[in-house]
Amino acid sequence: MELDKMDENDWKYHGEGNKSLVVSHFLAENNLNSIKSEPTAEQAFRHIPNIVDYSKYVMKPLLGEKYVHSGEVVKLPLDFVRQLSLKVQQERPELRCDKVMDTFSGCGLCLPNLTQLPLHHLRDHRPPICVEIKPKCGFLPFSRNITKECKRKVCRFCMHQHYKLANGKWKRLSRYCPLDLFSGSKQRMYVALKNLLEEPQNNLKIFKGGELIFSCKDDAKQQLELNDLIQHLRPYFPHSNGLYNGHQPGKAVLNEFIQVICSALLSGGDSNRSGEPRKVHLSESKPHCEASPFPRDLLRNGNHGLPKDSVLAKILQVQMLDNLDIEGIYPLYKRVEQYLEEFPRERNRLQIDGPYNESFMDTVKNCPAEDDGSVEYAVGKVHQYRVAMTAKDCSIMITFAPCEENEEHQLNLEKPRFTYSVSILDLDPKPYEGIPHQHKLDTKIVNYYLRSTQAPP
Ligand code: ATP
Ligand code: ZN
Ligand code: MG
Ligand code: MG
Repeated sequence: MELDKMDENDWKYHGEGNKSLVVSHFLAENNLNSIKSEPTAEQAFRHIPNIVDYSKYVMKPLLGEKYVHSGEVVKLPLDFVRQLSLKVQQERPELRCDKVMDTFSGCGLCLPNLTQLPLHHLRDHRPPICVEIKPKCGFLPFSRNITKECKRKVCRFCMHQHYKLANGKWKRLSRYCPLDLFSGSKQRMYVALKNLLEEPQNNLKIFKGGELIFSCKDDAKQQLELNDLIQHLRPYFPHSNGLYNGHQPGKAVLNEFIQVICSALLSGGDSNRSGEPRKVHLSESKPHCEASPFPRDLLRNGNHGLPKDSVLAKILQVQMLDNLDIEGIYPLYKRVEQYLEEFPRERNRLQIDGPYNESFMDTVKNCPAEDDGSVEYAVGKVHQYRVAMTAKDCSIMITFAPCEENEEHQLNLEKPRFTYSVSILDLDPKPYEGIPHQHKLDTKIVNYYLRSTQAPP
């Protein structure tokens, strides 16, 4: 794309996060630009290359080549960015409009559009469906440093729900529990996905042909209820329309849709390998959460574990680099802070703010298991914690489209057959300075949970 010929009218709103505006080109729909909002251009030009390096040298080796697409830094003409942000203002969902973005810099990120399938031929009239899931933390902390017992029984997501409801962030509690999704049990995963469909909040979005068709109830102008989603999905599951003797045919469609998502989440990414993949049991802690609505008596049906190369196993493995919990990390953060106060020049050598290169990755991988009292140990654990935080906040993109019988990459379902791909998105580094905030937030969430769920004496 020629930078001096960029015209804001060629671009349209695609989506946004807390810190970015994502736009797609009308003609080149397989590429997106993510424009990050930063207080100053100088900060943007430092931060955005850091995001790409972090994805390339840290997250990609940890999560696997096939799931991570790091993108490229692009320099955008300032005038273009200004015009574009004015133009898309009216396309933004209402819920987001009260949020004023900081000035957009002239620095952006060019990414493949993961809501599309690169090799999807126009043979089929049905465009790709993309399911974006923000799974959040999939295990119960097991660290010795934990002071509140409830953290070993109820997961962070489920506790946080009560806090968010009280603070008006959401109007209804979500019944989704990440531990069910990460369980590897088809039954529990089914329930988790069903609960996401019923209350998506910001953990589930669905796109069709690149357009958002389903997301949190207040987020999208074109918000459709579950029934509308079923109408969209019906052509993808034609034979299920006849099931259930015509009673609740919509249920059969949703059922099959959920099964496609489950299979993709448990697959090795995009291969049609045969045979049962090796299962791994990652968590040392209790494998279920007491706040999950999944029936307790059905839990006995085995602790299934996740297939080793599945996207869920990869993400969970990285999340579990947080093995001290914020309660164990905070004192180590203070050790680093104290050291830096004395030796401020050491900040660069210790790579506190990057660069995120192979040497940063070595520190993450080779951090000693036991605390020897050194600042190196503290820095290693803090780095690991931050990497785990990224994995607790990432999104999974599952994109699928109907394919012909003889095509190679397909899910092993009776019929219909789908071409699909699975990727991981939003792998920004979490700031070192955020640790004190995380510590406070953890205390607030746990205390609020205890207060709101325990009956008064
Ligand atoms: P968060 O608030 O979750 O931290 P963020 O500011 O880091 O968000 P992203 O999550 O990277 O921003 O992007 C925001 C949204 O834009 C995503 O949830 C997704 O729907 C869409 N998006 C971002 N990158 C891509 C991509 N490569 N392909 C398709 N959609 C994308
Ligand atoms: Zn839970
Ligand atoms: Mg995001
Ligand atoms: Mg992010």
